[in-house]
Amino acid sequence: MGASAAFHLTKLGAEVCVIDRNDPGRATFAGAGIICPWLSHSRDPRYQALAFASAEYYPELMDRLIAAGETNIRYDRVGGLVIGDSETQLNPVLKRLQAYLERGIQEVGEIKVLTIGKPKELFPYLNPALAGLYLSGAARVSGEDLRLALLNAAFRVGARQLHGSADLHLAGDVVVGVRFNREIIEADTVIVAAGAWAADLCRPIGLRVEVEPQRGQILHLKVAETGTEKLPLIIPVLSEYYLLGFPDSRVVVGATRETGSGFDFRVTAGGVGEILQEALHIAPGLKNATLAEVRVGFRPMTKDGLPLLGRPASLKGLVLATGLGRYGLTVGPFAGMLVAKLVMGEMTDIDMSSFAPDRQSS
Ligand SMILES: Cc1cc2nc3c(=O)[nH]c(=O)nc-3n(C[C@H](O)[C@H](O)[C@H](O)COP(=O)(O)OP(=O)(O)OC[C@H]3O[C@@H](n4cnc5c(N)ncnc54)[C@H](O)[C@@H]3O)c2cc1C
Repeated sequence: MGASAAFHLTKLGAEVCVIDRNDPGRATFAGAGIICPWLSHSRDPRYQALAFASAEYYPELMDRLIAAGETNIRYDRVGGLVIGDSETQLNPVLKRLQAYLERGIQEVGEIKVLTIGKPKELFPYLNPALAGLYLSGAARVSGEDLRLALLNAAFRVGARQLHGSADLHLAGDVVVGVRFNREIIEADTVIVAAGAWAADLCRPIGLRVEVEPQRGQILHLKVAETGTEKLPLIIPVLSEYYLLGFPDSRVVVGATRETGSGFDFRVTAGGVGEILQEALHIAPGLKNATLAEVRVGFRPMTKDGLPLLGRPASLKGLVLATGLGRYGLTVGPFAGMLVAKLVMGEMTDIDMSSFAPDRQSS
């Protein structure tokens, strides 16, 4: 979120300083990298307006980053496979995707129904008893590569980078800068893009931010085969778990959703067990894979599932940019642009009133 805001702010001519503490559990480092909002369970039109526009913005952002000299970004439209026990079970999903296409949401791409056994031809580790629904528009991104590319592009044109912890600095009802290493760094606007830590950062100035950490554990498996980067994303219909391939013979399987975890940065036996059990049920061909890495990230969750993007009414000089929850790799790059435009007084691409940080959420 912060990297995208910084990149877009430099494009709009702002003088930018990025301060990052690089906490263990940064969500962007752990994030799987699925960009496929059309399969989300959320039907909230406010979420859809933001998430669909975010997916649409990705190719344009990639072009802008490549033009800025950033070529090391792994964003690929590898396609997605929704899997289930039968074609009939997948019918409601098919209808939903067709309705999106009829509404002109072309990013969904081409849709194909796959009879039992066919999904395994596209993702060889799968259970042969599964049927599928293929959509070509689903994409995969490495959140960490994208974060670095956005930051590098911003630094190249003069943005400053500071490593460490910042506190907000208030004068009356105006945030006039941040305290960093006992120094005051003044700013016309401070953007709090502190993910799940946003509430802690704002509490000392009396601002209540309704965002909570939700721990996600996610497994990186190493397989013997190459070409894993071409595998489609696997999204089961009956569960919340997913699989996706990355280069270097890696298959990523996720993830736990541990509400109430606090900032407990641990890999747990239960978490790993839960994911493995589910993954091996869907993809028994992964039984012999090496469990190479477990990542842990804290999703910044809000009560109503919508992000907090904008200026709180009670304070001047402050913009909140957090609460991206489960979809931050999808939405963060676009939301960073929205926030940059807001800060610079430009028209935003979509109406942001639904994301007001001090809205009353149920
Ligand atoms: C397991 C898992 C899988 C996921 N999969 C997907 C997916 O497939 N697709 C998708 O779209 N989304 C996914 N997400 C969600 C996505 O990763 C997050 O929503 C997104 O990364 C949040 O980005 P952020 O910049 O808001 O927060 P973060 O990436 O957590 O960054 C916040 C930063 O603020 C810094 N910070 C905090 N306080 C301070 C301070 N006082 N001073 C300085 N720095 C500070 C932290 O150190 C950190 O670097 C997943 C998340 C998890 C955990």
